[in-house]
Amino acid sequence: SYEFNSNVWKGKTEFNTGLFLGGEFVDGSDKETIDVINPTNGKLITKVSLGTKADVDTAVKLAHKALETTWGLNAGGAERAAMLRKLGDLMYDHREELAAIEALDNGKTFGWALDVDITFSTDTIKYYAGWADKISGQTIETDEKKLCYTRHEPIGIVGQIIPWNFPLLMLTWKIGPALATGNAIILKPSEFTPLTALRMAALIKEAGFPDGSVSFITGYGHIVGEAISSHMEIDKVAFTGSTLVGRKIMEAAAKSNLKNVTLELGGKSPNVIFNDADLEQAVGWAAHGIFWNHGQACCAGSRIFVQEGIYDEFLKRFTERTKSLKVGDPFEVGVDQGPLVSKPHFDRVMGYIKSGIEQGATLHHGGAEHTGDGFFVNPTIFTDTTPDMKIVQEEIFGPVGVVIKFKDEDDVVRLANDTVYGLAAIVFSQDINRALETAHRLKAGTVWVNCANQLHANVPFGGFKQSGIGRELGEYALHNYTNIKAVHVNF
Ligand code: NAD
Repeated sequence: SYEFNSNVWKGKTEFNTGLFLGGEFVDGSDKETIDVINPTNGKLITKVSLGTKADVDTAVKLAHKALETTWGLNAGGAERAAMLRKLGDLMYDHREELAAIEALDNGKTFGWALDVDITFSTDTIKYYAGWADKISGQTIETDEKKLCYTRHEPIGIVGQIIPWNFPLLMLTWKIGPALATGNAIILKPSEFTPLTALRMAALIKEAGFPDGSVSFITGYGHIVGEAISSHMEIDKVAFTGSTLVGRKIMEAAAKSNLKNVTLELGGKSPNVIFNDADLEQAVGWAAHGIFWNHGQACCAGSRIFVQEGIYDEFLKRFTERTKSLKVGDPFEVGVDQGPLVSKPHFDRVMGYIKSGIEQGATLHHGGAEHTGDGFFVNPTIFTDTTPDMKIVQEEIFGPVGVVIKFKDEDDVVRLANDTVYGLAAIVFSQDINRALETAHRLKAGTVWVNCANQLHANVPFGGFKQSGIGRELGEYALHNYTNIKAVHVNF
């Protein structure tokens, strides 16, 4: 159990620290544990079970049993909808506790965790509750006295592997559509942030999902994640994380049973600000675009392209806005940015800052670690970059933005599309024709016009190019989790 006594939330939580298998919390097969570290002070929060390949095999057996008896085609849409609705209600009832666990484990501020992570997670579950009894096929007339109808059947056993940046939110984006369509789930949270998943597992049980329909296995990617993606009896793997690991997942899927794969991967999103933008609006959203969630967002607007006519004024105001961000304890009122998630990630981000300086960019603001024992990095701005620099090409996944001057629309479209990624893009212009023309020329799965980082349960999200395959959220995500069967009838 853990007692929170901060100035934003006082309360207690009980962590389950075992693997969630067959509706119970159990030790892993080899009884090993993994430390969960508080990124704000570097201290141990708790230890959770370290899953193994044998635990994945157990989860598969339990999932088969559930699909044959109480779940899959044996549970009606209305029944699944009721369970998901109940789960959404339970999450709402426990919203402050879930937000506190998320802030503790991940380092994001309690306020953001509550307003964004937990609220959106709850909305996602309720949105898919609405779909669960509306999964339907078509009737298609073929020849005279013959017809065909289609069924959208659950794929079966789906493995889901998620990252640490939005631990509960990514979990709900995955389980919402998979449970609405009746699949059995074996999910692995990130080894850095397993705690909200484990709290959520208890709520899933309370909501009435049958034993074995949902298993959560904590542990390392190269062990549990690899066991999931290469398993011969897991029918699909849905992954959110880096492009590097996405490639390994696809390879493992191809080498095993050719399982269905969806990938939500990295990004290096451009934010294009034209001379005719509302400057104050653009400054505010640009800061949100890159510094939201401490830059640990796949869609972070990390390359900020500013047209030459407003470049100096933009940079001045953007720097002032960046300086005003308060870095500190995520449980303090008024703090905008907590620590990065872990020591390895802190080292990685500091390494990128060093590389920017070494490759000749100007460190315009920030660049240093913040005081304290935690993994804090101050919001950072680079200027005078060249397109080949690592800080321009690679996903830093931290509070580090580059501001780049451009001449005209053709120039910026070329620069913005000069990346292997294609997750999201942002455009600021008060000329609707220019804004939309640019939006259509940018190679990205999402384009925000005069805003940034807007995500909704009913709007699809996913990447072009090496940012992924498939879409999450909205009706589209349901297609990730169903097999379409055509039944031909001769009468
Ligand atoms: P990561 O790829 O290192 O890890 C993601 C998950 O994969 C973790 O659970 C990890 O344990 C597991 N994993 C690691 N190696 C594995 C292997 N060989 N086989 C199977 N699983 C393995 O990513 P991260 O550092 O946790 O998260 C950051 C990345 O996630 C960034 O690249 C970010 O852009 C991406 N992301 C994308 C989206 C999106 O919707 N496109 C959303 C959030 C994060």
